[in-house]
Amino acid sequence: MNPNQEASESRLPAACDVLIIGAGPAGASAAALIHQAGLDAVVIERQRFPRFVIGESLLPHCMDLLEEADLLEAASSRGYIIKRGALFLRGATRCDFSFTDQHTRGWDHTWQVPRADFDKTLADAVAARGVPFLYGHEVKGIELARPRPTLTIADPAGIEHQVTARFVIDASGYGRALPRLLDLDEPSLLPPRQAVFAHVHGDLRPPGTDTQRIWIIVSKSGGWIWIIPFSNGLTSVGIVGDSAVFANFPSAPDLCLRAVIDSEPNCERLRGGTWALEPRALSGYSCAVKQFYGPNFCLVGNATEFLDPVFSSGVTLALESANRASKCVIRQLAGETVDWEADYAGPMQRGTSVFRTFVTRWYSGALPEIIFSTEMSDGIKNKICSVLAGYVWDETNPFVTNHALKVDQLARILASRALVA
Ligand code: FAD
Repeated sequence: MNPNQEASESRLPAACDVLIIGAGPAGASAAALIHQAGLDAVVIERQRFPRFVIGESLLPHCMDLLEEADLLEAASSRGYIIKRGALFLRGATRCDFSFTDQHTRGWDHTWQVPRADFDKTLADAVAARGVPFLYGHEVKGIELARPRPTLTIADPAGIEHQVTARFVIDASGYGRALPRLLDLDEPSLLPPRQAVFAHVHGDLRPPGTDTQRIWIIVSKSGGWIWIIPFSNGLTSVGIVGDSAVFANFPSAPDLCLRAVIDSEPNCERLRGGTWALEPRALSGYSCAVKQFYGPNFCLVGNATEFLDPVFSSGVTLALESANRASKCVIRQLAGETVDWEADYAGPMQRGTSVFRTFVTRWYSGALPEIIFSTEMSDGIKNKICSVLAGYVWDETNPFVTNHALKVDQLARILASRALVA
């Protein structure tokens, strides 16, 4: 029997040490770490796996986190395309970031993953260790006032059950289970944007090793486009922008994406392709929360904050937050007093703020000016590359410790040099 089948047939227990909401990368890796510590974890997942989710380009720091959760081997066995960097394109201008040329001593590669397969692989690996994954079960309510949190969970037949846990980790991603139930949602600091994306058959991939990096194209429309090839022969493509960008294209997602591909010269390789996954639109995905933790619960992954797809930070932040939060949970359940602010929320907010600076400067135009400048030194490029690799907690990198100042200063210097030249 496959481990997922076995897990989905698990019975809902009346009580457990740690109840995890959501079986995405945050939930599965939290479950792995909690189980490694000898605690009894249960994962509640409302969908059936494999299920589609967007977020296919990982960052090298993910590898450290998968390794710690003992999930690297399972993911490695799937033969995903190795991602060695990112190529930024604007018209005929190119800038190649290779993860081998980094300031931080870390992984020089990661993967480009179809998430349906990747997320199921992680979940199955953890389920095979004996952690129950209850698919088709949805968390509907939580009562925190009792000595222990009690959750109301609807089973696949819609029948509601009560489960008591010593601790609850909310890894419900875009479902935002506890932010909704406990009124923790807060508007994002970022303006609303939209994405339209699909999987394509028939990408005329450039020969050689070029598929081992994702393409990020600054489009004439004012938006940007991703191209991410997978080992299953399909390629993910998507465009992101604000409403002014989408006003240039038809509103139906398939017509919109076709028009984007036809109008952007750097998308020529996709012109003869056909949809393997029909184009979909997603908007207003950026979100934030008032607090990352509370009495006997915490939020991890996208259930906390999601910034923007541009630097592929989502899964990295999901794995990092699951890692840090799980360690706090393990210590707390062992009887230690945990300073959640110092050990969890603070570091997560610091790392996220580095990416937030990069995202805001991307859309302001400052970061594209840096990236496409011919004047950037190798030393600076390596430091920026380490941020793009997800090493946003490396305090030896001034683009981490002083991110806003360094990016703004550099943009000004490069702009003035360009004017002189
Ligand atoms: P998820 O993967 O969303 O998993 C949460 C799970 O919780 C789901 O399976 C859901 O069914 C379950 N759930 C929800 N509510 C409940 C409930 N009440 N009860 C039980 N289960 C529940 N990130 C990257 O790293 N790289 C990228 O290239 C990238 N591209 C992106 C492009 C776009 C357009 C967008 C919008 C995002 C992108 N992201 C990317 C972000 C990425 O999608 C997320 O950051 C990532 O999926 C977060 O993982 P997670 O484990 O927190 O949540």
